[in-house]
Amino acid sequence: MEEIIIFCPDCRGQFEIDSEDIVEGELIECPLCGAEIEVLSESPIKIRLWSEDNTF
Ligand SMILES: [Zn+2]
Repeated sequence: MEEIIIFCPDCRGQFEIDSEDIVEGELIECPLCGAEIEVLSESPIKIRLWSEDNTF
């Protein structure tokens, strides 16, 4: 099993996650701040902060 380092786009902290948990279109949760992060692409890994309400 491979561990991948993810940089949270919200709190900018870094955490490790199993590569198996990186699935395109799925959400992962930052263990540091609880932000939900959307996986845009598996290879190369692209992520972005996912927001339920996109009201600004
Ligand atoms: Zn975070």
